[in-house]
Amino acid sequence: MTLDRSWFTEPMESTGTAFSLKGEKVHEEQTPYQKIEIWKTESFGWLMTIDGCTMVSTRDNFLYHEMMSHPALNSHPDPQTVVIVGGGDCGTLREVLKHPQVKSATQVEIDERVTRLSEQYFPELCDRNDDPRATLFFGDGIQWMKDAAPGSIDMIVIDSTDPVGPAEGLFGKRFYLDCIKALKPDGMLVQQSESPLLHLSLIQEMHAAMREAGFAETHLLHFPQVIYPSGWWSGSIACKKAGALASRLDEQAIAALDCKYYNADTHRGAFALPTYVRQALARA
Ligand code: SAM
Repeated sequence: MTLDRSWFTEPMESTGTAFSLKGEKVHEEQTPYQKIEIWKTESFGWLMTIDGCTMVSTRDNFLYHEMMSHPALNSHPDPQTVVIVGGGDCGTLREVLKHPQVKSATQVEIDERVTRLSEQYFPELCDRNDDPRATLFFGDGIQWMKDAAPGSIDMIVIDSTDPVGPAEGLFGKRFYLDCIKALKPDGMLVQQSESPLLHLSLIQEMHAAMREAGFAETHLLHFPQVIYPSGWWSGSIACKKAGALASRLDEQAIAALDCKYYNADTHRGAFALPTYVRQALARA
């Protein structure tokens, strides 16, 4: 079967698979950092891609944004100061700001055009950008973390592109060392960590690098994500202090978050690991 130009297709040579959505391209631009495209799809609403990889769609972004924010924030005793690295579509910022304990949330995105296009095509993700607790900073997250005041952050959320191009340095020991320095003693980091089916060795390397950098514990959580390779995605949590991961699963507080996917059951389920993943992480 040949696909005509009315299909967006992301081929993944390394796994011999591809993901497609029917629709038409309405915008394309090359920024100093990457190529951004916007597609109007038939069944997933708007789709943003970066360098040919799916980033965010109207239909399924809630899965990723809720699961990259709430399990980690509800595992920290009192997350007041949050820094999001990447996340320029502002969907993670929106979820983080739903937590009343959060006093400041800073989004450090390298490419301002991602945010400007999100304001245009995904306004529902940007509806909390004017919250007085929010700061939108445009610059490199790697440098920002190097310069961060020691012991100043409760939670770092790394909502980045895949570990290539400007995001490559966000997936290694050197960056994690800067994160540890910037975190408070009971601080935590959560990072998107790709597919537990296709990228297990990357997940193992990430957890090993986090622990080598000095994080006392690492944990994996997983959730469905239709538009990403394999349709199954993960986040990795690294805790500065051992035994710090506590679940604050207050039903009333969770209901107030007004989520579509996240609740106390999906929180618990996200940390329940399949056998082969558990074994792989034990070896990491
Ligand atoms: N949910 C997506 C995924 O997992 O594929 C990520 C979405 S978000 C749009 C990723 C963002 O990370 C992009 O906007 C990109 O510009 C940003 N980014 C990549 N490297 C960065 C860096 N070094 N500092 C700050 N932001 C970075």
